[in-house]
Amino acid sequence: MNIGILTIGNELTSGMTQDTNSSFIARELHAQGWGVSAVITVGDDRDAIGGGLDYLLGISDALVVTGGLGPTADDITTAAVASVFGLDLYTDGAVLKQLKERFDRLNIPWTENNAKQAMFPEGAGIIDNPVGIACGFSLERGSKPVAVMPGVPVEAGKMFSDGVIPLFRDKISYREHIAKRTIKTFGRTESRIDQALSHENLEIPGVSIGFYPRFPEIHLVVTSRGEDRNNVEANLRVTCERIEGKLHRYIFGYDDDTMEGVVAAFLTDRELTLSIAESCTGGLITDRLTDVPGSSVFLERGVVTYSNTSKVELLGVPSSIIEKHGAVSEEVAILMAEGVKRLAGTDIGLSTTGIAGPAGGTGGKPVGTVFVALSTGEGTTCRRFLFRWDRRRIKEISSQIALNMLRKFLIGVVD
Ligand code: AMP
Ligand code: MG
Repeated sequence: MNIGILTIGNELTSGMTQDTNSSFIARELHAQGWGVSAVITVGDDRDAIGGGLDYLLGISDALVVTGGLGPTADDITTAAVASVFGLDLYTDGAVLKQLKERFDRLNIPWTENNAKQAMFPEGAGIIDNPVGIACGFSLERGSKPVAVMPGVPVEAGKMFSDGVIPLFRDKISYREHIAKRTIKTFGRTESRIDQALSHENLEIPGVSIGFYPRFPEIHLVVTSRGEDRNNVEANLRVTCERIEGKLHRYIFGYDDDTMEGVVAAFLTDRELTLSIAESCTGGLITDRLTDVPGSSVFLERGVVTYSNTSKVELLGVPSSIIEKHGAVSEEVAILMAEGVKRLAGTDIGLSTTGIAGPAGGTGGKPVGTVFVALSTGEGTTCRRFLFRWDRRRIKEISSQIALNMLRKFLIGVVD
């Protein structure tokens, strides 16, 4: 069962607007157990729309179309679809009346070009738009349903869920079962993960594994499909277990988990408190942890100690140590973590110091050098890293490493 998606608009083909409708619709179709044959984007052009419709109808059992239903002259989707299907246009009296009433109610002056939004191909069913002006419509080509909606994402989204899915359910009888699980890893490159998995027997019929790098993480999406629900779920479970057997130390979570959410849950469970002293990460670790509801239970403070003076004044790092080893050094990172932990009176202290660049590197400490230190009741550890990315990515990966160091400590993994 395959459904084609056609998104229409010059703003899409010019790159001014990103096509989010097709990804939303594709996800929703998959969630229903339907596949997607192809996604095509065309401009507001009669021939391109016609070509897209013909091609997709040739390879699909149904079509979803968005865009080009507005009142202005550049929106031509309704007329283009009607002409491809050899249908005349008519004005729907009820929709026209409803449009005029809506304009009155919202105090928007009525202009005649708005009447275009009450025009539909003969024989079309009307898809209501509860969140906007332009209604959509549905047609059938052979036995294949075609649904056409406006391009505005909130409108297309609502109309798709409320109007199009029920319509397709009525028309399309075969549905696959699909089960998915996202396995989230950090600390191994895509190629090393691939290599680690290559020795494992993961060839289970109906199961596919996709790699989705989401800097700085690599996500593996395991999808299992088939006609029997129990088989589909058993196949998914077996595949995930085999992957976990190979990658367990790099897996920090599943599906909607985040690194900060996982760390927050462990800290809360163990009733441990945390304080953070950040230099090169500029508060990003604290920002991420405070995104998690309930973080006040474990987070005592996060200080951004960017200057040498602030490291001395707020963390008690001796200035002689900074002068001797430099602010970006193992010695200072350790004293930062220990200092913030002592002054805040927490169970754990975490710190970062590094050179995010593009200037400031030296021979011994090139741009991208970062130290992350973790101080706990069991002592203080510090690790040195060298990254080659821009400032933002260095901040992101450094915050991720700091959180991951904390996560590994909390679950007792030793590097
Ligand atoms: P339209 O219905 O073609 O007049 O589109 C109205 C507005 O919705 C456009 O100006 C875009 O900002 C937005 N839009 C249209 N199509 C898409 C799409 N496929 N993905 C995201 N936004 C879109
Ligand atoms: Mg448009």
